[in-house]
Amino acid sequence: MGADEISPRARAIHFSSLVFDTHADTPQRLFFDQFDLAKRDAEGCVDIPRLREGGVGAIFLALWVPVEITGGAATRRAQGLLDATLKQIEIHGDDLALATSPDQVLKARSKNKIAVLLGIEGGHAIDNSLAVLRGFHERGVRYMTLTHNAATDWADSSNDAPRHNGLTDFGRQVIREMNRLGMLIDISHVSDAAFYNVLEASRAPVIASHSCCRALCDSPRNLDDSMIKALASQGGVIHITFHDAFLSQDYATANRALASEIASHERAVSQKFGANEARNLMELQRLSDEAIRTGKLPQVGWEKIVDHIDHAVGIAGTDHVGIGSDFDGAFMPEGMEDASRFPFLTEGLVRRGYKEPDIRKILGENTLRVMADTERIGKQLRAEKS
Ligand SMILES: [Zn+2]
Repeated sequence: MGADEISPRARAIHFSSLVFDTHADTPQRLFFDQFDLAKRDAEGCVDIPRLREGGVGAIFLALWVPVEITGGAATRRAQGLLDATLKQIEIHGDDLALATSPDQVLKARSKNKIAVLLGIEGGHAIDNSLAVLRGFHERGVRYMTLTHNAATDWADSSNDAPRHNGLTDFGRQVIREMNRLGMLIDISHVSDAAFYNVLEASRAPVIASHSCCRALCDSPRNLDDSMIKALASQGGVIHITFHDAFLSQDYATANRALASEIASHERAVSQKFGANEARNLMELQRLSDEAIRTGKLPQVGWEKIVDHIDHAVGIAGTDHVGIGSDFDGAFMPEGMEDASRFPFLTEGLVRRGYKEPDIRKILGENTLRVMADTERIGKQLRAEKS
């Protein structure tokens, strides 16, 4: 078996499983560039043809709001991303179906459609308002990543100095409201203290929609073994992400050494493309590829994703691990350039001796289960109150 081949067994397992990706940043492209998902593009990572080639059955599209945008403008940005995404789902109704529940994911699958789910990335998008949160839920949003790379007014971020030592009282109210609505709580991007506060406050299991294992790559965005254990003990799922700097210690270390050079690149790129986050990211991706070619940054291979899955399974068992690519939002390893490459993950798991039922859980069944649990607990909580 060559390094770039997929065995018939892996192919058979992959294309008969529900493959569920819990994080892609594609809405930026839809919003800024009016990108049409039906077009197989040479740039970016996600479109309908490549989702089909990759055997993807369900995908959470993240409505990411940069932390520089605050207040009502943050809400409006998330709404703009939401509108652009719903429009694509409507236009391509033969291929895509909006899903707001595990049942709807399965229903889409039975009709050979790709289930598209919506998540907000960055809790500042609700502008400190539970009413705004409920409004997003009403329009179909089914998870919220509590912070991005800066603290919100109510939760600390892993990439920012602590402002609240975790969650504020209002932050706990947000958690309770999300529980009541049956919305998944996403702890990717929050600080360690906020993570433990969320576990304490939440009645439902929680997810990391796109994080790796800190034991293999020391980044504050990754979960250490105790956190993975704690998340799993409440029924949660860590979705391993594909970003080079979270997968590879060598890449992360080299990246840190280049921090000031990268920061000046970022400034130049954002001057060139202004507020167009999609273009910004593509340009930074190109610069990262160039740095790899010239040997400034090390090459990261797709097998690293399987290393992280394997590590998380070793800590938490096969019921608590899933996948969350961060396609169109991060720098992808060699061999996992876009959604068409998903079957390699199954190949990697087969090569490591994973059994078919466990592979199916990791590819998507665990995500479906945590959604169903969250929905069921929400129903109970709503019944208690009425
Ligand atoms: Zn993210």
